[in-house]
Amino acid sequence: MSRVFNFSAGPAMLPVEVLEQASAEMVDWHGTGMSVMEMSHRGKEFTSIAEKAEADLKEILTIPDNYKSLFLQGGASSQFAMVPMNLLRGRDTADYINTGSWSKKAIAEAGRFCNVNIAATAEANNFTTIPPRQQWSLNPEAAYVHYTPNETIGGVEFHGIPDVGDVPLVADMSSTILSRPVDISRFGVIYAGAQKNIGPAGLTIVIVRDDLTGETIPGTPTMFNYEIHAKAGSMYNTPPTYSWYIAGLVFEWIKKKGGINVIAGINKRKSGKLYAFIDNSGFYSNPVAPDCRSWMNIPFILARPELDGKFLELAKDAGLVNLKGHRSVGGMRASIYNAMPEEGVDALIAFMADFEKKYA
Ligand SMILES: *Cc1c(COP(=O)(O)O)cnc(C)c1O
Repeated sequence: MSRVFNFSAGPAMLPVEVLEQASAEMVDWHGTGMSVMEMSHRGKEFTSIAEKAEADLKEILTIPDNYKSLFLQGGASSQFAMVPMNLLRGRDTADYINTGSWSKKAIAEAGRFCNVNIAATAEANNFTTIPPRQQWSLNPEAAYVHYTPNETIGGVEFHGIPDVGDVPLVADMSSTILSRPVDISRFGVIYAGAQKNIGPAGLTIVIVRDDLTGETIPGTPTMFNYEIHAKAGSMYNTPPTYSWYIAGLVFEWIKKKGGINVIAGINKRKSGKLYAFIDNSGFYSNPVAPDCRSWMNIPFILARPELDGKFLELAKDAGLVNLKGHRSVGGMRASIYNAMPEEGVDALIAFMADFEKKYA
């Protein structure tokens, strides 16, 4: 078996222990004589898998009892519409914070349903900073405030939760969920596509406070209604069973590692050493303001962009893949989610140092 260090932004690396367990259980799960993929989602076997995963997620993130965790499909992109459909609740305006590419997509979709107030934007700084909370112009009439705690493309991350008073706070946590502890009670809704830090693509997790479900805008499709999914235990229709199962194995893996605080410590250390290396080099640079640099996605550029192709080619030869930056940004990006071992980051730094020595 030969595994590479995969720096893809998503779908991203999964812990090898999880893949090995899934592989061992692939054709015969726990003596049932069938694969998890072949089980009825309503049978007792899959029900046990689903309930265990949900309970483990609740434990890992200390999710309070007045929140439901939904295991849905449609990606974070569907949530861009589901959030306004479920949270407007008679109001016609919502606040959005614009910190980059994913914020913009959420804003564009919300604009189909309500008046979007851009309460703050980092556009003037080319999304390399986070607008300080004191400068936000929140609308007291807003149904909710939406922000993107980690901008996967720009590599900008909030390192604290903004205070928005009693207005429900909504967060697209696709690329930061499970990377550090978070006070769930500060949020109305948290959502995340699974393919970065949870499991395989096809699963979307939504954590929603109970009192925010039950009133949707007219014409909301059944499948876009949080309350329908909450009441049905995410089994209104066939859920993404295999992705749910793998997510459950990832949750067990996090618990075995020592839980979310241990994971957060590792993530801080991994990202810290890569930023330190980049900052100390005269050849590589990261444009993001130091106080809002992402622990998960680290974009960097080479002083000589004509060497980008060579860098990627030699990195691949060294077993370091998917380092090409997003097409909208260029340069490189190292996504180092929970499943990226620290040795992967060490190997990247060693490669970058060597490349700089030889070609800079
Ligand atoms: C990847 C990503 C998305 C898109 O997720 P899909 O599951 O592909 O819809 C949205 N927001 C953020 C922050 C992301 O990182």
